[in-house]
This record gives sequence, structure tokens and C-alpha cells, in this order.
Amino acid sequence: CSWWKNVEPAAKDPILGVTEAFLADTSPNKVNVGVGAYRDDNGKPVVLDCVREAERRIAGNLNMEYLPMGGSVKMVEETLKLAYGENSELIKDRRIAAVQALSGTGACRVFADFQKRFQPDTQIYIPVPTWSNHHNIWRDAQVPQRTFHYYDPGTKGLDFASLMDDVKNAPDGSFFLLHACAHNPTGVDPTEDQWREISYQFKVKKHFAFFDMAYQGFASGDPERDAKAIRIFIDDGHLIGCAQSYAKNMGLYGQRVGCLSIVCEDELQAVAVKSQLQQIARPMYSNPPIHGALVVSIILTDPDLKSLWLDEVKGMADRIIGMRAALREKLEKMGSVISWEHMTNQIGMFCYSGLTPEQVDRMTNEFHIYMTRNGRISMAGVNTGNIDYLANAIHEVTK
Ligand code: PMP
Repeated sequence: CSWWKNVEPAAKDPILGVTEAFLADTSPNKVNVGVGAYRDDNGKPVVLDCVREAERRIAGNLNMEYLPMGGSVKMVEETLKLAYGENSELIKDRRIAAVQALSGTGACRVFADFQKRFQPDTQIYIPVPTWSNHHNIWRDAQVPQRTFHYYDPGTKGLDFASLMDDVKNAPDGSFFLLHACAHNPTGVDPTEDQWREISYQFKVKKHFAFFDMAYQGFASGDPERDAKAIRIFIDDGHLIGCAQSYAKNMGLYGQRVGCLSIVCEDELQAVAVKSQLQQIARPMYSNPPIHGALVVSIILTDPDLKSLWLDEVKGMADRIIGMRAALREKLEKMGSVISWEHMTNQIGMFCYSGLTPEQVDRMTNEFHIYMTRNGRISMAGVNTGNIDYLANAIHEVTK
């Protein structure tokens, strides 16, 4: 008996498929600007020095016991300080329900399940465009999805007016997914003043804001600055939710370490909410992995290691910002008729280049340059060795 004869192959993931195609290409010139992972100027993956040092301290001392269901208490505590501030009243008053999560993805997924379980009649408003996995996450949690305007292809910037219209026109008490900083895939973030207006309007409409913060520190180079949107909402008294990830800002991609937090009305509510988050995690994976959580808590509780980390995050962000400026300058020097101002206005790991799917196909077929068909370039994949080749290819396909 063939149990699985009706199983068709799943659709390829639009992002992971690019890496597969890159690996299969035998050209010596090939370039991968599809992958959303940091690379150094030699195109190599990076393990931060602070992480290496934390691992040295762990070695020999680590037992392999289970963490509690909610994960490492110390890691979660330090992680909340990053998002909500060292001196956050909410933390002091124990009003934040928080659990360690399987990186940012796991945090989003546990939240989506929580939303489904305790606000079953709500939907989630998702920006257009967004990280494609957001759609999968809320789909599998069976939360109906709506979209809101975000990116304006005309200006290659924020479509603020349409965004605000959508916020105003959504039914009162709607759930919105917001990227806290370094929006993926567009690299377009609201300004501080725009965040204030968004927060104000959310208050008027009694909307719930769920912040996905996968790139804290990666946008400006300073985690405090990158938490601005969250701090604005907190100052306005919003009870937000937040997904945090150490994949990018600590380079802990494969360690799967992150945090889900939900701001509550009081400590009692926070205790109840946390217990329910754990209840959701229990049948899925029981408890989260220990190694990455130890690395994070060692780094963040040692002042020297923490300041080394801050330097290293800034180093990564600065290299990316430098590559943006250099790529733009090269295109302008080549006499490109297109404005590349958006390349330096956008921030974070990605540049939403404006290349059309057909132009991306030419990049790949003629130049062996791999990227997603939406025109997203991972600036982390750009380096002094491939930037001329990349600039030339972009210039050729946009002539
Ligand atoms: N949210 C966004 C917007 C992202 O870009 C990513 C990483 N691509 C994630 C969440 C989750 O990443 P991870 O699960 O590796 O932390």
C-alpha cells in the first residue's frame, strides 16, 4: 500500500532556492547576493570574537541538562533589556511575559499560535512586501491574513500615506505585524516621526502591534537606536508583542536563539500569559536548545564581552553601509541613468534594488549573479572583491 502516493513535491522556497541554484553553478565568477546571512569582505561566514570567547568559557563547564520550558531565564532577562531598555519600568514591574524561542521564526510562530488560541476572531495585517515566511507562519497557525501598504515602487521608499490609510481603515482592535527596523526585504523603515504617528493612530484605533525585530543593531550599528520604534510604542502605553532573534546581530544563525515577549497589564497577567506560551511550546518542542542561550547570556552579562559585541555589531553594520555607498557611487560613475539614491537611503541587510524579475533573470543567466526575483540584493554578500563585477552587471541589465 502506498500511503503517500498523493504527495506532490512542495513549492520551492523563494529564498532557499536561490542558494541551491548558486551552489550548482560552476562559473568562477558566480556571486550570491540572495542569502540573508552576513559575510565578511572575503565572502566568508563570520563567527564573532565575543561568541568565540563565550564558547571558550562554556567548554568544560557545560552540562547538557534540559532548560526550563520557557528557556534560559538569564538569557530572556538580558534580551528584554535590549528591546525595552536597561531601565525599563515594564521589566521592573514584571509586566512582560517572555520565553526563549527558536530564533525569530520560532518566536513569530509561537505568537501566531497564541493569537489563534486566545484571540481566535482576529486577523493579522502584514506589510506588502514582507519576509515571505511571515505568510507561511500565520497561515500554518490558521490566522487569516490581510495586508497593508508599505513600500512604494515609485519612490522606492515608504508609502506612508497609504500605510496610514490602511491603519485607519482596519477594524478597531486589529493585529498588525511591524518590522522593528531594517525591514526585510525593502530596507525601508519609517522615520522616528512617522513611527510616532503610527503609534498615535494605533492608540486611536486600539490596534495591537507585533514587532518582528530580526535585525536589532544591524540597521544603524547601534541596538539602542534600532529599538526606537519599540520604545516609542512603549512610551505611548501600547501593550505590544515582540519577536527577537540573535541570528544576525550575534551571527548565531544555526543556534536558533531568540525570544518572544508580550507586554501585559500587570504581573499577574504576565504570569498567566507566560504559562500559556510555555503550554504552546511544550507539545511542539518541549524546551528550547541550551548552547546558543548560554552564549548570549555570557556575552550580555559580562561588561567586556558586551562592549566587544557592540563593537562587532557596529563593524558588520558599517561594512554594509559602506558597500551601499560604494555600489551607488560606482553605478553613478558608470553613467547609469537611473537614480540609485534608494540604495543608500535603505538600511539593514537588504537593498530593494528595483530590478525587475526579467532583469534579475539576466543577472543570473548572463552574469551568474544570484538573488531573489523581487530584486532584493543582500548587501552582506557584496565585498571589495565582487563589487565592480556586480556594479557592471546591474548597469548592463538596467541600460
Ligand atoms: N523576521 C525577519 C523579518 C527576517 O528577515 C528573519 C530572517 N530572515 C527572521 C524573522 C527570522 O530569522 P531567524 O528565525 O533565523 O531568527
